[in-house]
Amino acid sequence: MTKLLEIDQLSIDFANGSCPIRVVGGVSLELEAGETLGIVGESGSGKSVTSLSIMRLLPEGLAKVAEGDIRYRGKSLLNMSESEMQKVRGNHISTIFQEPMTALNPVFKIGRQVRESIRQHSKKSKREAHREAIALLGEVGISAPEQIMEAYPHQLSGGMRQRVLIAMAMASNPDILIADEPTTALDVTIQAQILELMKKLQKERGTAIIFITHDLGVVAEMCDRVAVMYAGQIVEQGDVRTIFKEPKHPYTVGLLNSMPQFSGEKTRLEAIAGQVPHPSEFLPGCRFAQRCPSRMDLCESVEPALYDFGGKHKCKCHLYRRDTDAAHS
Ligand code: SF4
Ligand code: MG
Repeated sequence: MTKLLEIDQLSIDFANGSCPIRVVGGVSLELEAGETLGIVGESGSGKSVTSLSIMRLLPEGLAKVAEGDIRYRGKSLLNMSESEMQKVRGNHISTIFQEPMTALNPVFKIGRQVRESIRQHSKKSKREAHREAIALLGEVGISAPEQIMEAYPHQLSGGMRQRVLIAMAMASNPDILIADEPTTALDVTIQAQILELMKKLQKERGTAIIFITHDLGVVAEMCDRVAVMYAGQIVEQGDVRTIFKEPKHPYTVGLLNSMPQFSGEKTRLEAIAGQVPHPSEFLPGCRFAQRCPSRMDLCESVEPALYDFGGKHKCKCHLYRRDTDAAHS
């Protein structure tokens, strides 16, 4: 069966004079119809760049896909013409981003912006689009949609603006919604409401979601599977239950230990000391080595392989080397 989306050994370079810097290296991911995949990691891990590359929205001249492929229903997005790609963006893959203010045009009323997103992918008249816009705003939980149609973005709260953007993203009934930290700028109560809304829409429409976040709590709440990114690579991936119950990678373990515990006794937050290295300082071996409590001699010099634990659970760490691997080095 053709996969909905496949990212295959994707590498992304940032321009840097004559020696480009590799910021994402060898990322492979799959997304099935209707599932929610979380991509989790600290800032600087390459999550957003990876998602921008799916939409072919990397800033031109500054970043480019250097290797690998991205396929939507078996067709390479990287080889498509710009006009084919525009169709994909308008009809099949939609995005919502962290800062809802910058994604809306401040000078146009909400109604005009929602209507235009509807008319971009259908031949509806202005009138029909207007009616549909009102219905969509209602669907995303806006209680007086007719009034909101007449408002300007700055007149709405952050949560309302994000609802409007979700309505615009869903206007084409996409197969895939890429949500990059969509609730990070919102306060906790509003965040919970937006997550609920996304779950509801997914259930009703069967949209697959790629959810990019630094927050494992959000992953637990929203996702079926999760990929943990560190310094431009995926270090562990698997279904959410397995990753929470049996994390294999020391970085995943560190992320889980730094999550606030909501139930039972309060435990001290164990943040992972240090920060993600800059891409120009990646070591030839494991990129987590400087921060890893389980580091061994070979870790800084030898890149770990990706070990497969079955059921799509994979982890890139020397702790899982088998004797046969050792025999080769
Ligand atoms: Fe830690 Fe070594 Fe595993 Fe890297 S490969 S995560 S340094 S044990
Ligand atoms: Mg980001």
